[in-house]
Amino acid sequence: MTQPIFILPEDYKRTLGKDAQRNNIMAAKQVAEAVRTTLGPKGMDKMLVDSLGDITITNDGVTILEEMGIEHPAAKMIVEVAKTQETQVGDGTTTAVTFVGELLKNAESLLDKEIHPTVITKGYRLAAEKSQEILDQLAEKITEKDEDILKKIAITAMTGKGAESAKEKLAEIAIKAIKQVIEEDKTINLDNIKLEKKTGNGVSDTELIQGIVLDKERVHSGMPKKVEKAKIALINSALEIKSTETDAKISISDPSQLQKFIEQEEEMLKEMANKIIKSKAKIVICQKGIDDLVQHFLAKEGIYAVRRAKKSDLEKLARATNAKIINNLNEITEDYLGEATAEEKIINDEGMTFITDCKNPKAVTIIIRGGTEHVVDEVERAIRDALGDISATLKTEKATAGAGSIEIELSLRLREYANKLSGREQLAVLAFADSLEIIPRTLAENSGFDPIDVLTELKSAHEKNKWAGLDVFTGKIVDAWEQGIIEPLRIKTQAIKSASEVAELILRIDDVIASSGGKDDTSQTHPGMPGMPEM
Ligand code: ADP
Ligand code: MG
Repeated sequence: MTQPIFILPEDYKRTLGKDAQRNNIMAAKQVAEAVRTTLGPKGMDKMLVDSLGDITITNDGVTILEEMGIEHPAAKMIVEVAKTQETQVGDGTTTAVTFVGELLKNAESLLDKEIHPTVITKGYRLAAEKSQEILDQLAEKITEKDEDILKKIAITAMTGKGAESAKEKLAEIAIKAIKQVIEEDKTINLDNIKLEKKTGNGVSDTELIQGIVLDKERVHSGMPKKVEKAKIALINSALEIKSTETDAKISISDPSQLQKFIEQEEEMLKEMANKIIKSKAKIVICQKGIDDLVQHFLAKEGIYAVRRAKKSDLEKLARATNAKIINNLNEITEDYLGEATAEEKIINDEGMTFITDCKNPKAVTIIIRGGTEHVVDEVERAIRDALGDISATLKTEKATAGAGSIEIELSLRLREYANKLSGREQLAVLAFADSLEIIPRTLAENSGFDPIDVLTELKSAHEKNKWAGLDVFTGKIVDAWEQGIIEPLRIKTQAIKSASEVAELILRIDDVIASSGGKDDTSQTHPGMPGMPEM
Protein backbone atom coordinates (compact mmCIF):
# COMPACT_ATOMS: atom_id res chain seq x y z
CA MET A 1 0.00 0.00 0.00
CA THR A 2 1.22 3.46 -0.81
CA GLN A 3 1.43 6.06 1.87
CA PRO A 4 -1.25 8.81 1.53
CA ILE A 5 0.15 12.24 0.86
CA PHE A 6 -1.28 15.26 2.62
CA ILE A 7 -1.23 18.45 0.66
CA LEU A 8 -3.62 20.42 2.83
CA PRO A 9 -3.46 21.30 6.51
CA GLU A 10 -5.63 19.13 8.71
CA ASP A 11 -8.29 21.69 9.38
CA TYR A 12 -9.15 22.21 5.72
CA LYS A 13 -12.30 20.74 4.28
CA ARG A 14 -12.34 19.64 0.75
CA THR A 15 -15.33 18.82 -1.42
CA LEU A 16 -14.67 17.41 -4.84
CA GLY A 17 -16.29 16.83 -8.21
CA LYS A 18 -20.00 16.14 -8.29
CA ASP A 19 -20.40 16.72 -4.58
CA ALA A 20 -18.95 20.18 -4.83
CA GLN A 21 -21.21 20.99 -7.75
CA ARG A 22 -24.34 19.61 -6.14
CA ASN A 23 -23.69 21.40 -2.85
CA ASN A 24 -23.21 24.69 -4.58
CA ILE A 25 -26.28 24.28 -6.74
CA MET A 26 -28.36 23.30 -3.74
CA ALA A 27 -27.26 26.35 -1.77
CA ALA A 28 -27.94 28.65 -4.70
CA LYS A 29 -31.37 27.14 -5.25
CA GLN A 30 -32.21 27.67 -1.60
CA VAL A 31 -31.42 31.35 -1.84
CA ALA A 32 -33.57 31.71 -4.93
CA GLU A 33 -36.39 29.81 -3.26
CA ALA A 34 -36.25 32.16 -0.29
CA VAL A 35 -37.00 35.29 -2.33
CA ARG A 36 -39.15 33.72 -5.04
CA THR A 37 -42.40 34.02 -3.10
CA THR A 38 -42.04 37.80 -3.08
CA LEU A 39 -41.99 38.22 -6.88
CA GLY A 40 -44.65 40.39 -8.44
CA PRO A 41 -47.39 42.66 -7.13
CA LYS A 42 -49.06 39.82 -5.30
CA GLY A 43 -45.86 38.45 -3.88
CA MET A 44 -45.67 38.00 -0.14
CA ASP A 45 -43.62 40.12 2.23
CA LYS A 46 -40.94 38.87 4.57
CA MET A 47 -40.50 39.96 8.14
CA LEU A 48 -36.86 40.13 9.06
CA VAL A 49 -35.79 40.41 12.66
CA ASP A 50 -32.15 41.22 13.32
CA SER A 51 -30.08 40.31 16.38
CA LEU A 52 -31.15 43.52 18.11
CA GLY A 53 -34.81 42.75 17.53
CA ASP A 54 -35.26 45.43 14.89
CA ILE A 55 -37.92 44.53 12.38
CA THR A 56 -37.96 45.07 8.64
CA ILE A 57 -41.00 44.13 6.58
CA THR A 58 -40.29 44.07 2.89
CA ASN A 59 -40.56 42.23 -0.37
CA ASP A 60 -37.47 43.83 -1.78
CA GLY A 61 -35.07 41.12 -2.96
CA VAL A 62 -31.82 42.79 -2.09
CA THR A 63 -32.98 43.91 1.34
CA ILE A 64 -34.08 40.38 2.22
CA LEU A 65 -30.83 38.82 1.09
CA GLU A 66 -28.68 41.39 2.85
CA GLU A 67 -30.53 40.96 6.12
CA MET A 68 -30.36 37.18 5.93
CA GLY A 69 -26.63 37.21 6.57
CA ILE A 70 -25.98 34.31 4.22
CA GLU A 71 -22.70 32.47 4.73
CA HIS A 72 -22.46 29.65 2.22
CA PRO A 73 -19.92 30.75 -0.41
CA ALA A 74 -22.02 29.79 -3.45
CA ALA A 75 -25.12 31.29 -1.88
CA LYS A 76 -23.17 34.48 -1.33
CA MET A 77 -22.45 34.63 -5.03
CA ILE A 78 -26.19 34.69 -5.64
CA VAL A 79 -26.54 37.57 -3.22
CA GLU A 80 -23.93 39.35 -5.32
CA VAL A 81 -26.21 38.98 -8.35
CA ALA A 82 -28.89 40.84 -6.45
CA LYS A 83 -26.47 43.54 -5.38
CA THR A 84 -25.18 44.06 -8.91
CA GLN A 85 -28.75 44.33 -10.14
CA GLU A 86 -29.49 46.87 -7.42
CA THR A 87 -26.51 49.08 -8.19
CA GLN A 88 -26.76 48.79 -11.96
CA VAL A 89 -30.51 49.18 -12.37
CA GLY A 90 -32.07 49.68 -8.97
CA ASP A 91 -34.87 47.16 -9.57
CA GLY A 92 -35.37 43.58 -10.71
CA THR A 93 -33.39 41.90 -7.94
CA THR A 94 -35.96 39.19 -7.27
CA THR A 95 -36.21 38.49 -10.99
CA ALA A 96 -32.44 38.07 -11.31
CA VAL A 97 -32.11 35.79 -8.30
CA THR A 98 -35.14 33.67 -9.23
CA PHE A 99 -33.74 33.25 -12.71
CA VAL A 100 -30.28 32.19 -11.60
CA GLY A 101 -31.84 29.62 -9.28
CA GLU A 102 -33.76 28.13 -12.18
CA LEU A 103 -30.72 28.15 -14.47
CA LEU A 104 -28.87 26.08 -11.90
CA LYS A 105 -31.77 23.76 -11.28
CA ASN A 106 -32.05 23.01 -14.99
CA ALA A 107 -28.28 22.61 -15.23
CA GLU A 108 -28.57 19.95 -12.56
CA SER A 109 -30.90 17.91 -14.77
CA LEU A 110 -28.39 18.16 -17.59
CA LEU A 111 -25.61 17.04 -15.26
CA ASP A 112 -27.80 14.06 -14.37
CA LYS A 113 -27.83 13.20 -18.07
CA GLU A 114 -24.03 13.12 -18.00
CA ILE A 115 -23.65 16.33 -19.93
CA HIS A 116 -20.35 17.93 -19.05
CA PRO A 117 -20.42 21.24 -17.16
CA THR A 118 -18.32 22.96 -19.81
CA VAL A 119 -20.95 22.10 -22.43
CA ILE A 120 -23.64 23.57 -20.21
CA THR A 121 -21.71 26.74 -19.53
CA LYS A 122 -21.01 27.18 -23.22
CA GLY A 123 -24.67 26.76 -24.10
CA TYR A 124 -25.69 29.18 -21.37
CA ARG A 125 -23.22 31.74 -22.66
CA LEU A 126 -24.51 31.41 -26.21
CA ALA A 127 -28.07 31.78 -25.01
CA ALA A 128 -27.27 34.79 -22.84
CA GLU A 129 -25.57 36.55 -25.74
CA LYS A 130 -28.37 35.78 -28.12
CA SER A 131 -30.87 37.01 -25.52
CA GLN A 132 -29.30 40.47 -25.49
CA GLU A 133 -29.75 40.67 -29.23
CA ILE A 134 -33.36 39.43 -29.17
CA LEU A 135 -34.31 41.69 -26.27
CA ASP A 136 -32.97 44.69 -28.09
CA GLN A 137 -35.13 43.89 -31.11
CA LEU A 138 -38.24 43.30 -29.01
CA ALA A 139 -37.99 46.50 -26.96
CA GLU A 140 -39.90 49.69 -27.71
CA LYS A 141 -38.28 53.09 -28.01
CA ILE A 142 -39.10 55.55 -25.22
CA THR A 143 -37.83 59.09 -24.71
CA GLU A 144 -38.13 61.77 -22.08
CA LYS A 145 -41.20 63.10 -23.87
CA ASP A 146 -43.24 59.93 -23.38
CA GLU A 147 -44.41 61.00 -19.96
CA ASP A 148 -47.37 58.71 -20.04
CA ILE A 149 -45.20 55.65 -20.48
CA LEU A 150 -42.70 56.84 -17.89
CA LYS A 151 -45.55 57.16 -15.42
CA LYS A 152 -46.65 53.63 -16.17
CA ILE A 153 -43.10 52.43 -15.63
CA ALA A 154 -42.98 54.14 -12.24
CA ILE A 155 -46.35 52.67 -11.28
CA THR A 156 -45.29 49.18 -12.37
CA ALA A 157 -42.21 49.49 -10.18
CA MET A 158 -44.33 50.38 -7.15
CA THR A 159 -47.29 48.04 -7.63
CA GLY A 160 -47.57 45.69 -4.69
CA LYS A 161 -45.20 47.70 -2.52
CA GLY A 162 -46.30 49.70 0.52
CA ALA A 163 -46.82 52.65 -1.81
CA GLU A 164 -49.94 51.16 -3.37
CA SER A 165 -52.46 53.71 -2.13
CA ALA A 166 -50.71 56.74 -3.57
CA LYS A 167 -48.84 55.28 -6.50
CA GLU A 168 -50.24 57.76 -9.05
CA LYS A 169 -49.00 60.70 -7.07
CA LEU A 170 -45.69 59.09 -6.17
CA ALA A 171 -45.11 58.23 -9.84
CA GLU A 172 -45.60 61.87 -10.78
CA ILE A 173 -43.24 62.98 -8.06
CA ALA A 174 -40.60 60.49 -9.21
CA ILE A 175 -40.83 61.67 -12.82
CA LYS A 176 -40.67 65.32 -11.84
CA ALA A 177 -37.64 64.66 -9.67
CA ILE A 178 -35.82 62.84 -12.45
CA LYS A 179 -36.62 65.58 -14.95
CA GLN A 180 -35.07 68.08 -12.59
CA VAL A 181 -31.79 66.27 -12.22
CA ILE A 182 -31.27 64.90 -15.72
CA GLU A 183 -28.27 66.47 -17.45
CA GLU A 184 -28.17 67.53 -21.06
CA ASP A 185 -26.14 64.48 -21.99
CA LYS A 186 -28.87 62.31 -20.42
CA THR A 187 -26.83 61.27 -17.41
CA ILE A 188 -28.78 61.08 -14.19
CA ASN A 189 -27.16 61.21 -10.79
CA LEU A 190 -29.71 59.83 -8.38
CA ASP A 191 -27.65 61.24 -5.50
CA ASN A 192 -29.09 64.61 -6.44
CA ILE A 193 -32.50 63.41 -5.29
CA LYS A 194 -32.56 63.42 -1.53
CA LEU A 195 -35.08 61.17 0.18
CA GLU A 196 -36.06 62.38 3.63
CA LYS A 197 -38.41 60.24 5.70
CA LYS A 198 -40.86 61.61 8.23
CA THR A 199 -43.52 59.53 9.93
CA GLY A 200 -46.97 60.96 10.44
CA ASN A 201 -49.80 61.70 8.03
CA GLY A 202 -50.44 59.44 5.06
CA VAL A 203 -48.35 58.23 2.16
CA SER A 204 -50.26 60.62 -0.11
CA ASP A 205 -48.75 63.58 1.77
CA THR A 206 -45.36 62.74 0.30
CA GLU A 207 -44.07 65.80 -1.55
CA LEU A 208 -41.32 67.05 -3.79
CA ILE A 209 -39.36 70.07 -2.58
CA GLN A 210 -37.14 72.22 -4.76
CA GLY A 211 -34.04 72.28 -2.63
CA ILE A 212 -32.58 70.37 0.26
CA VAL A 213 -34.52 69.47 3.36
CA LEU A 214 -32.65 68.75 6.58
CA ASP A 215 -34.18 66.83 9.41
CA LYS A 216 -32.97 69.51 11.85
CA GLU A 217 -34.50 72.55 13.46
CA ARG A 218 -32.78 75.88 13.96
CA VAL A 219 -30.50 75.64 16.91
CA HIS A 220 -31.75 78.63 18.96
CA SER A 221 -35.30 79.89 19.38
CA GLY A 222 -34.09 83.49 19.13
CA MET A 223 -33.05 82.93 15.54
CA PRO A 224 -35.36 83.96 12.72
CA LYS A 225 -37.64 81.26 11.34
CA LYS A 226 -36.89 82.31 7.82
CA VAL A 227 -33.94 83.99 6.16
CA GLU A 228 -34.54 84.84 2.56
CA LYS A 229 -32.01 84.81 -0.29
CA ALA A 230 -28.98 85.18 1.92
CA LYS A 231 -25.38 84.01 2.12
CA ILE A 232 -24.97 80.49 3.43
CA ALA A 233 -21.90 78.98 5.11
CA LEU A 234 -21.26 75.24 5.33
CA ILE A 235 -18.92 74.51 8.21
CA ASN A 236 -17.54 71.16 9.21
CA SER A 237 -15.53 72.20 12.24
CA ALA A 238 -16.98 72.56 15.72
CA LEU A 239 -18.30 75.93 16.86
CA GLU A 240 -17.53 75.09 20.45
CA ILE A 241 -14.48 74.45 22.56
CA LYS A 242 -14.00 70.76 22.89
CA SER A 243 -12.74 69.39 26.16
CA THR A 244 -9.17 68.33 25.61
CA GLU A 245 -8.76 64.76 24.55
CA THR A 246 -5.52 64.23 26.40
CA ASP A 247 -5.65 64.23 30.17
CA ALA A 248 -4.63 67.79 30.75
CA LYS A 249 -5.08 69.29 34.16
CA ILE A 250 -5.45 72.94 34.86
CA SER A 251 -4.75 73.93 38.41
CA ILE A 252 -6.26 77.11 39.60
CA SER A 253 -5.14 78.54 42.89
CA ASP A 254 -7.39 81.53 43.39
CA PRO A 255 -10.90 82.57 42.23
CA SER A 256 -9.69 85.39 40.01
CA GLN A 257 -7.79 82.86 37.93
CA LEU A 258 -10.95 80.87 37.41
CA GLN A 259 -12.77 84.01 36.34
CA LYS A 260 -10.00 84.75 33.89
CA PHE A 261 -10.12 81.26 32.51
CA ILE A 262 -13.86 81.48 31.88
CA GLU A 263 -13.48 84.88 30.31
CA GLN A 264 -10.82 83.53 28.01
CA GLU A 265 -13.09 80.73 26.85
CA GLU A 266 -15.89 83.20 26.25
CA GLU A 267 -13.51 85.35 24.30
CA MET A 268 -12.64 82.43 22.03
CA LEU A 269 -16.29 81.59 21.44
CA LYS A 270 -17.10 85.20 20.72
CA GLU A 271 -14.25 85.27 18.25
CA MET A 272 -15.78 82.26 16.46
CA ALA A 273 -19.14 83.97 16.20
CA ASN A 274 -17.49 87.17 15.02
CA LYS A 275 -15.71 85.42 12.18
CA ILE A 276 -19.03 84.18 10.92
CA ILE A 277 -20.76 87.51 11.43
CA LYS A 278 -17.95 89.33 9.61
CA SER A 279 -18.20 86.99 6.63
CA LYS A 280 -21.78 88.24 6.16
CA ALA A 281 -23.21 84.71 6.22
CA LYS A 282 -26.82 84.73 7.36
CA ILE A 283 -27.35 80.98 7.22
CA VAL A 284 -24.94 78.58 8.93
CA ILE A 285 -25.08 74.81 8.51
CA CYS A 286 -22.59 73.17 10.84
CA GLN A 287 -21.65 69.51 10.82
CA LYS A 288 -20.54 69.61 14.45
CA GLY A 289 -21.88 71.22 17.62
CA ILE A 290 -22.52 74.91 18.27
CA ASP A 291 -21.88 76.26 21.77
CA ASP A 292 -24.71 78.07 23.56
CA LEU A 293 -22.75 81.27 23.61
CA VAL A 294 -22.03 81.13 19.88
CA GLN A 295 -25.73 80.42 19.30
CA HIS A 296 -26.57 83.50 21.31
CA PHE A 297 -24.25 85.77 19.33
CA LEU A 298 -25.47 84.39 16.02
CA ALA A 299 -29.11 84.77 17.06
CA LYS A 300 -28.47 88.38 18.01
CA GLU A 301 -27.32 89.05 14.46
CA GLY A 302 -30.40 87.37 12.98
CA ILE A 303 -28.45 84.40 11.65
CA TYR A 304 -30.21 81.07 11.03
CA ALA A 305 -28.04 78.18 12.21
CA VAL A 306 -28.31 74.39 12.22
CA ARG A 307 -25.95 72.07 14.06
CA ARG A 308 -24.95 68.42 13.61
CA ALA A 309 -25.99 68.22 9.98
CA LYS A 310 -25.00 65.06 8.14
CA LYS A 311 -21.83 65.06 6.10
CA SER A 312 -23.72 63.84 3.03
CA ASP A 313 -26.16 66.72 3.45
CA LEU A 314 -23.33 69.22 3.62
CA GLU A 315 -22.03 67.81 0.34
CA LYS A 316 -25.47 68.04 -1.25
CA LEU A 317 -25.81 71.62 -0.01
CA ALA A 318 -22.42 72.48 -1.46
CA ARG A 319 -23.56 71.27 -4.87
CA ALA A 320 -26.91 72.99 -4.56
CA THR A 321 -25.82 76.40 -3.32
CA ASN A 322 -22.31 76.66 -4.82
CA ALA A 323 -20.88 77.10 -1.34
CA LYS A 324 -17.56 75.52 -0.40
CA ILE A 325 -17.30 73.47 2.76
CA ILE A 326 -15.24 75.28 5.38
CA ASN A 327 -12.87 73.07 7.34
CA ASN A 328 -11.20 75.78 9.33
CA LEU A 329 -13.10 78.80 10.55
CA ASN A 330 -10.10 81.03 9.85
CA GLU A 331 -10.63 80.40 6.15
CA ILE A 332 -14.10 81.85 6.11
CA THR A 333 -14.44 84.53 3.44
CA GLU A 334 -17.19 85.49 1.03
CA ASP A 335 -15.62 83.16 -1.54
CA TYR A 336 -16.71 80.19 0.50
CA LEU A 337 -20.32 81.23 0.81
CA GLY A 338 -23.26 80.22 -1.33
CA GLU A 339 -26.74 81.64 -1.59
CA ALA A 340 -30.08 80.26 -0.50
CA THR A 341 -33.21 80.70 1.57
CA ALA A 342 -33.54 78.86 4.87
CA GLU A 343 -36.83 78.26 6.58
CA GLU A 344 -37.94 76.15 9.49
CA LYS A 345 -41.19 74.31 8.97
CA ILE A 346 -42.93 72.13 11.50
CA ILE A 347 -43.73 68.68 10.21
CA ASN A 348 -45.28 66.16 12.55
CA ASP A 349 -44.40 68.37 15.55
CA GLU A 350 -40.75 68.50 14.64
CA GLY A 351 -38.86 71.32 13.00
CA MET A 352 -37.20 70.69 9.66
CA THR A 353 -34.99 73.09 7.76
CA PHE A 354 -35.84 73.78 4.15
CA ILE A 355 -33.00 75.19 2.07
CA THR A 356 -34.56 76.54 -1.11
CA ASP A 357 -33.87 79.13 -3.84
CA CYS A 358 -30.67 77.26 -4.64
CA LYS A 359 -28.47 78.34 -7.54
CA ASN A 360 -28.35 74.81 -8.85
CA PRO A 361 -31.84 73.62 -9.75
CA LYS A 362 -30.62 70.03 -9.76
CA ALA A 363 -31.18 69.72 -6.05
CA VAL A 364 -34.47 68.25 -4.95
CA THR A 365 -35.79 66.42 -1.92
CA ILE A 366 -38.68 64.02 -1.67
CA ILE A 367 -40.20 64.09 1.81
CA ILE A 368 -41.69 60.66 2.32
CA ARG A 369 -44.65 60.43 4.67
CA GLY A 370 -46.54 57.49 6.07
CA GLY A 371 -48.28 56.33 9.22
CA THR A 372 -45.49 54.31 10.77
CA GLU A 373 -41.77 53.85 10.41
CA HIS A 374 -42.23 50.52 8.60
CA VAL A 375 -44.59 52.06 6.07
CA VAL A 376 -42.23 54.96 5.42
CA ASP A 377 -39.30 52.58 4.96
CA GLU A 378 -41.18 50.43 2.47
CA VAL A 379 -42.42 53.50 0.58
CA GLU A 380 -38.83 54.68 0.39
CA ARG A 381 -37.79 51.39 -1.23
CA ALA A 382 -40.73 51.66 -3.65
CA ILE A 383 -39.74 55.20 -4.63
CA ARG A 384 -36.14 54.12 -5.07
CA ASP A 385 -37.34 51.38 -7.44
CA ALA A 386 -39.41 53.90 -9.38
CA LEU A 387 -36.53 56.39 -9.61
CA GLY A 388 -34.18 53.60 -10.67
CA ASP A 389 -36.58 52.37 -13.33
CA ILE A 390 -37.27 55.79 -14.84
CA SER A 391 -33.59 56.58 -14.95
CA ALA A 392 -32.75 53.15 -16.41
CA THR A 393 -35.35 53.69 -19.12
CA LEU A 394 -34.03 57.11 -20.05
CA LYS A 395 -30.45 55.88 -20.15
CA THR A 396 -31.08 53.36 -22.90
CA GLU A 397 -34.38 54.85 -24.13
CA LYS A 398 -35.86 51.39 -24.31
CA ALA A 399 -38.67 49.67 -22.49
CA THR A 400 -40.47 46.36 -22.58
CA ALA A 401 -43.76 45.00 -21.29
CA GLY A 402 -43.68 42.96 -18.09
CA ALA A 403 -46.10 40.50 -16.50
CA GLY A 404 -44.04 37.62 -17.88
CA SER A 405 -44.61 38.65 -21.49
CA ILE A 406 -41.00 39.43 -22.35
CA GLU A 407 -39.73 36.23 -20.75
CA ILE A 408 -42.14 34.05 -22.74
CA GLU A 409 -41.37 35.80 -26.01
CA LEU A 410 -37.63 35.55 -25.41
CA SER A 411 -37.96 31.91 -24.46
CA LEU A 412 -39.83 31.11 -27.70
CA ARG A 413 -37.24 32.89 -29.81
CA LEU A 414 -34.38 31.16 -28.03
CA ARG A 415 -35.97 27.82 -28.86
CA GLU A 416 -35.99 28.76 -32.53
CA TYR A 417 -32.34 29.69 -32.19
CA ALA A 418 -31.54 26.41 -30.43
CA ASN A 419 -33.03 24.44 -33.30
CA LYS A 420 -30.38 25.87 -35.58
CA LEU A 421 -27.59 24.69 -33.31
CA SER A 422 -26.12 21.26 -33.48
CA GLY A 423 -24.44 19.31 -30.75
CA ARG A 424 -25.09 19.13 -27.07
CA GLU A 425 -24.98 22.89 -26.49
CA GLN A 426 -28.43 22.88 -28.02
CA LEU A 427 -29.72 21.15 -24.90
CA ALA A 428 -28.21 23.84 -22.72
CA VAL A 429 -29.76 26.63 -24.80
CA LEU A 430 -33.11 24.89 -24.48
CA ALA A 431 -32.59 24.62 -20.72
CA PHE A 432 -31.87 28.34 -20.67
CA ALA A 433 -35.10 29.00 -22.59
CA ASP A 434 -37.01 26.81 -20.12
CA SER A 435 -35.49 28.70 -17.21
CA LEU A 436 -37.01 31.97 -18.41
CA GLU A 437 -40.47 30.50 -17.83
CA ILE A 438 -39.81 30.63 -14.10
CA ILE A 439 -40.82 34.31 -14.11
CA PRO A 440 -44.40 33.93 -15.45
CA ARG A 441 -44.74 30.65 -13.57
CA THR A 442 -43.80 32.31 -10.29
CA LEU A 443 -46.06 35.30 -10.98
CA ALA A 444 -48.92 32.82 -11.45
CA GLU A 445 -48.06 30.81 -8.35
CA ASN A 446 -47.68 33.87 -6.17
CA SER A 447 -51.10 35.15 -7.22
CA GLY A 448 -52.87 31.86 -6.69
CA PHE A 449 -53.37 30.79 -10.31
CA ASP A 450 -52.53 27.45 -11.84
CA PRO A 451 -49.04 27.83 -13.31
CA ILE A 452 -49.47 25.10 -15.93
CA ASP A 453 -52.70 26.58 -17.31
CA VAL A 454 -51.21 30.05 -17.33
CA LEU A 455 -48.08 28.96 -19.18
CA THR A 456 -50.05 27.05 -21.80
CA GLU A 457 -52.36 29.98 -22.41
CA LEU A 458 -49.48 32.43 -22.49
CA LYS A 459 -47.55 30.42 -25.05
CA SER A 460 -50.51 30.14 -27.36
CA ALA A 461 -51.29 33.86 -27.00
CA HIS A 462 -47.73 34.60 -28.05
CA GLU A 463 -48.35 33.24 -31.50
CA LYS A 464 -50.12 36.53 -32.14
CA ASN A 465 -48.96 39.00 -29.52
CA LYS A 466 -45.43 39.42 -28.19
CA TRP A 467 -46.71 41.39 -25.19
CA ALA A 468 -49.22 38.81 -23.95
CA GLY A 469 -48.75 38.59 -20.20
CA LEU A 470 -50.50 37.52 -17.02
CA ASP A 471 -52.69 40.04 -15.21
CA VAL A 472 -51.98 38.90 -11.68
CA PHE A 473 -55.12 40.54 -10.36
CA THR A 474 -57.58 38.71 -12.62
CA GLY A 475 -55.61 35.71 -13.81
CA LYS A 476 -56.44 36.66 -17.40
CA ILE A 477 -53.98 36.84 -20.27
CA VAL A 478 -53.76 40.47 -21.36
CA ASP A 479 -51.69 42.74 -23.59
CA ALA A 480 -49.26 43.84 -20.91
CA TRP A 481 -48.14 46.90 -22.85
CA GLU A 482 -51.70 48.15 -23.22
CA GLN A 483 -52.36 47.42 -19.57
CA GLY A 484 -49.46 49.70 -18.73
CA ILE A 485 -47.30 46.98 -17.17
CA ILE A 486 -44.08 48.39 -18.53
CA GLU A 487 -40.49 48.08 -17.38
CA PRO A 488 -37.11 49.35 -18.53
CA LEU A 489 -35.32 47.00 -20.88
CA ARG A 490 -32.25 47.24 -18.66
CA ILE A 491 -33.94 45.29 -15.86
CA LYS A 492 -34.11 42.32 -18.19
CA THR A 493 -30.77 42.65 -19.95
CA GLN A 494 -28.90 43.11 -16.67
CA ALA A 495 -30.76 40.31 -14.88
CA ILE A 496 -29.99 37.87 -17.68
CA LYS A 497 -26.40 38.95 -17.94
CA SER A 498 -25.47 38.68 -14.29
CA ALA A 499 -27.61 35.60 -13.65
CA SER A 500 -26.01 33.65 -16.47
CA GLU A 501 -22.52 34.77 -15.55
CA VAL A 502 -22.90 33.58 -11.98
CA ALA A 503 -24.55 30.33 -13.06
CA GLU A 504 -21.57 29.64 -15.31
CA LEU A 505 -19.16 30.52 -12.53
CA ILE A 506 -20.84 28.15 -10.09
CA LEU A 507 -21.08 25.33 -12.64
CA ARG A 508 -17.38 25.51 -13.37
CA ILE A 509 -16.42 24.81 -9.76
CA ASP A 510 -15.54 21.18 -9.09
CA ASP A 511 -13.44 21.56 -6.01
CA VAL A 512 -14.15 23.49 -2.84
CA ILE A 513 -11.22 23.83 -0.49
CA ALA A 514 -12.30 25.56 2.65
CA SER A 515 -10.35 26.50 5.71
CA SER A 516 -12.44 25.57 8.71
CA GLY A 517 -11.06 28.64 10.38
CA GLY A 518 -14.06 30.24 8.71
CA LYS A 519 -17.63 29.27 9.32
CA ASP A 520 -18.97 25.85 8.49
CA ASP A 521 -21.01 25.80 5.31
CA THR A 522 -24.53 24.47 5.19
CA SER A 523 -23.71 21.41 3.17
CA GLN A 524 -22.19 18.24 4.41
CA THR A 525 -18.64 18.03 3.23
CA HIS A 526 -16.33 15.12 2.85
CA PRO A 527 -13.84 14.42 5.56
CA GLY A 528 -10.98 15.95 3.63
CA MET A 529 -8.36 13.68 2.12
CA PRO A 530 -8.60 9.93 2.50
CA GLY A 531 -6.45 8.49 5.16
CA MET A 532 -6.53 11.54 7.34
CA PRO A 533 -5.12 10.63 10.75
CA GLU A 534 -7.70 10.42 13.51
CA MET A 535 -6.98 12.76 16.32
P1 ADP B 1 -38.18 42.53 -8.75
O1 ADP B 1 -37.38 42.59 -7.50
O2 ADP B 1 -37.65 41.51 -9.69
O3 ADP B 1 -38.41 43.85 -9.39
P2 ADP B 1 -40.99 42.61 -8.17
O4 ADP B 1 -41.62 42.06 -6.94
O5 ADP B 1 -40.91 44.08 -8.32
O6 ADP B 1 -39.58 41.95 -8.30
O7 ADP B 1 -41.81 42.00 -9.39
C1 ADP B 1 -41.49 42.29 -10.71
C2 ADP B 1 -42.31 41.43 -11.63
O8 ADP B 1 -43.70 41.71 -11.49
C3 ADP B 1 -41.97 41.73 -13.08
O9 ADP B 1 -41.87 40.55 -13.78
C4 ADP B 1 -43.17 42.55 -13.54
O10 ADP B 1 -43.40 42.45 -14.92
C5 ADP B 1 -44.27 41.95 -12.75
N1 ADP B 1 -45.43 42.86 -12.62
C6 ADP B 1 -45.44 44.12 -12.15
N2 ADP B 1 -46.70 44.63 -12.19
C7 ADP B 1 -47.50 43.67 -12.67
C8 ADP B 1 -48.91 43.56 -12.93
N3 ADP B 1 -49.71 44.57 -12.69
N4 ADP B 1 -49.36 42.40 -13.44
C9 ADP B 1 -48.52 41.38 -13.66
N5 ADP B 1 -47.21 41.39 -13.42
C10 ADP B 1 -46.70 42.53 -12.95
MG1 MG C 1 -39.52 45.47 -8.86
